[in-house]
Amino acid sequence: MLMETSPVCALVDSFGRRVSYLRLSVTDRCDLRCVYCMSERMTFMSRREILSLDELERVARAFIRIGVRKIRITGGEPLVRKGVIDLFRSLSACLQDGSLQELTLTTNGTHLAQHARDLALSGVRRVNISLDTLDPHRYATLTRGGSLTTVFEGIDAAQDAGLAVKINTVALRGNTEDEIDDLIHFAHHRGTGLTLIETMPLGETGEDRLDQYLPLDRLRRRIEARWSLTDIGLRTGGPARYAKVDETGGVIGFITPLTHNFCENCNRVRVTAAGVLHTCLGQNDAADLKSAMRASADNTVLLETIAHALKHKPKGHDFVLDRASVPQIKRHMSATVG
Ligand code: SAM
Ligand code: SF4
Repeated sequence: MLMETSPVCALVDSFGRRVSYLRLSVTDRCDLRCVYCMSERMTFMSRREILSLDELERVARAFIRIGVRKIRITGGEPLVRKGVIDLFRSLSACLQDGSLQELTLTTNGTHLAQHARDLALSGVRRVNISLDTLDPHRYATLTRGGSLTTVFEGIDAAQDAGLAVKINTVALRGNTEDEIDDLIHFAHHRGTGLTLIETMPLGETGEDRLDQYLPLDRLRRRIEARWSLTDIGLRTGGPARYAKVDETGGVIGFITPLTHNFCENCNRVRVTAAGVLHTCLGQNDAADLKSAMRASADNTVLLETIAHALKHKPKGHDFVLDRASVPQIKRHMSATVG
């Protein structure tokens, strides 16, 4: 339902959830192949399929007009998209006129050293950097060939540019349990938050997800054996629940799509690089915004398509992780909009 409020419309779904957060993918491509995200050989969208930078801006502005206040640029790896900084620059005008409250991105950090300053100049204040291990060999294995040094350089550059950094770590059985103390030290010593994420069954990766899966309640018990955690009511507009580590003063976020689903408060939608709107990460609903945009130069069809999709936003996901099941969601996280 599109509800007219002054001076814009507001996006409210049929369960009364107000959508204020857009995750916008600018590419499904990536320079890494994380074992929980992609398979080794991927077929990516053709260049003709993906939205131009102008179309990405048009989608973003349409969502801002109807009440989105926070946009996260993501992918794939957003910083491998040619010209992506121009998109940040264009959208920074919406930060300046107050129609957008936050413009941010999630990145693997490998190209951040090159772009951190321009991002900061475009009004980006916070960046999430994905980092699952501090061990160079393990990093190369988990990412199938990545170099940890480039990520460290990216984190340094982001902090030097004045960006607040949050480290995102996908919880992986064995790996994260071994390294969790070092990850806490690393993140909190640098003044960054650390958010742990349960691995979700999205797309075929050629790996056994059940072998990778580490429930966060188990990891939390492991953390509490060494550190004192105090739950805090911090809200950052996302699904994480936060706890403060008394010894470091730093914060750990827990994102638990499997052990504790957070759909009742879901405030977000996702648009892929091909202009497909997914109103739920864990369902197969999809609306074609690219055709809607190309159907007419004004935004009437586009806004109607968004409103219709919102009306059908599912109540929640129902991820199931067991050895027998194939992923219900065939698309990879990188194509789904991570
Ligand atoms: N390439 C960027 C990055 O890695 O930060 C942005 C896109 S990536 C798809 C966004 C986030 O999704 C990353 O933090 C990544 O670790 C996480 N991710 C990818 N596949 C996942 C999965 N199957 N389950 C949970 N998180 C996943
Ligand atoms: Fe690339 Fe991010 Fe997926 Fe890793 S998680 S393969 S960095 S898109």
